Amino acid sequence: MSERMIISEPYYFTDSISHCGYCNGQKPDKNDNFAVRSWYDKHLQAQDGLDVQNCTLGVQLELVSVEMYDKLCNMGFRRSGKFLYKPDLLRNCCRMYTIRTTVDQVKVSKDMKACIKRFKKAALPDSNQNSKKGHKGPFDFMREIIETENESKNFYTKFEPAIYSDEKYSLFARYQESVHNDFDHNPKSFKRFLCDAPFSPEVIRGTKQEWDQLNDWKNPERYHFKRLGPAHECYYYNDNLVAIAVVDILPSGISSVYFIWDPAYAKMSLGKLSALRELAISSKINRKHYYMGYYIQDCPKMNYKGKYGGELMDLCNYKYTPLSRIEKDIEHSKFFLLSDDPNLANEPRLDERFSETPATWQASDKLYNVVENVYGVNGGAFRAANEAAEQLSEKAIPYSREPFHDICTHEKKNDIYSIPNVVPGLLPLGEILQMILQQKINLVNNNMVLFDTSMGHIRLVVDFDQESPQIKKTICDLVRLFGLKNTIDSLVIV
Ligand SMILES: [Zn+2]
Repeated sequence: MSERMIISEPYYFTDSISHCGYCNGQKPDKNDNFAVRSWYDKHLQAQDGLDVQNCTLGVQLELVSVEMYDKLCNMGFRRSGKFLYKPDLLRNCCRMYTIRTTVDQVKVSKDMKACIKRFKKAALPDSNQNSKKGHKGPFDFMREIIETENESKNFYTKFEPAIYSDEKYSLFARYQESVHNDFDHNPKSFKRFLCDAPFSPEVIRGTKQEWDQLNDWKNPERYHFKRLGPAHECYYYNDNLVAIAVVDILPSGISSVYFIWDPAYAKMSLGKLSALRELAISSKINRKHYYMGYYIQDCPKMNYKGKYGGELMDLCNYKYTPLSRIEKDIEHSKFFLLSDDPNLANEPRLDERFSETPATWQASDKLYNVVENVYGVNGGAFRAANEAAEQLSEKAIPYSREPFHDICTHEKKNDIYSIPNVVPGLLPLGEILQMILQQKINLVNNNMVLFDTSMGHIRLVVDFDQESPQIKKTICDLVRLFGLKNTIDSLVIV
């Protein structure tokens, strides 16, 4: 069944970098706050300079199909409960790259081996002989995990619907207080953060067959796993709930949402174990990728993900690239944009790519990092976007020229509906202008639905041209975020 995506208008939030959950505005070298070197050099001179912010855009996502959410994850979005967001990688203080990996891409480190060894010791406390026996050949973390869990009498996990329980909340409370020193939580906030999801109630509940299949993931005879949607994987040790992995099971992989664990079992390194387990499970249930959320090169809390190998999303091209290929380019939290043309100065067009599955840059491609040409102080993106904004405003769509000499002072900072003219990974404004000029935008006619909160009713968009300037802009902004095809079938709360 295809479900209509139900979303709010897009928002753009700016906040002080001291509120950034990753750097807290505390990077020792201010250069590392800037996506592109030339912007740092420019601001080095300014008195008030270095005014980088925490910049995020997103929508409230009331309903989405799992298939569509899979696409969104591959476009650099993530969800927190029912909020769908994506950082503005040009203006944000930290570069948050979508990272994914597979069992084949993982290079098992000493640290991972030690983690599994600790787990075996805890889960098989009586089997000294067993641990000495071992296996010949290279270390196979999947086999180690599966054999340990099959033999263990005191450790097991259970997948179940992502639904609230007092036992889960009590674990969350212990975790928040001890690990994050956060005492400001309640059952409601836990539910909003780790139970609420933008999927239909049927998808959230799932069927008994789906859960039975999923909980039988270690069975080598099983090949079919129907489950798609959110799940809580509850970890039990000596019959206590010691951890919960919150995951989304998508057609193309398992997406890790969050992991909470009981501080009393810190020694078991359950967080590290969970990443290896989720990788193993993705492979066993035939979902190719393991989506680990965001990778941040200069954040110790987030760069451990690089140890699992894998690929980063090149947002502007909607293509993945092996992390190893791009490591030098993203040092000091820099942004990258790859091209086979060293002189490329415009943002790549995106709309048609958004209808396909993202590709991966080939190892044989000769590539250049053209980020300065496109997004640097003299980058082509700003000029092109401002020209397009001017032409759009002549068509009564209220975009306006921005002072392109700066990324730090976008004019309507306090207007949460105003997205800057240039945001990497969104459809360039020039592409939106082409859609208007060629009347491709009319594909929304008789397809897109608006829920008008001021009138309290739902209506079809019959003729884009007849809509108010503000509605036109909202539609254009949604197309910038999601592409035309994905926007057409949505219901937008305005
Ligand atoms: Zn930051």
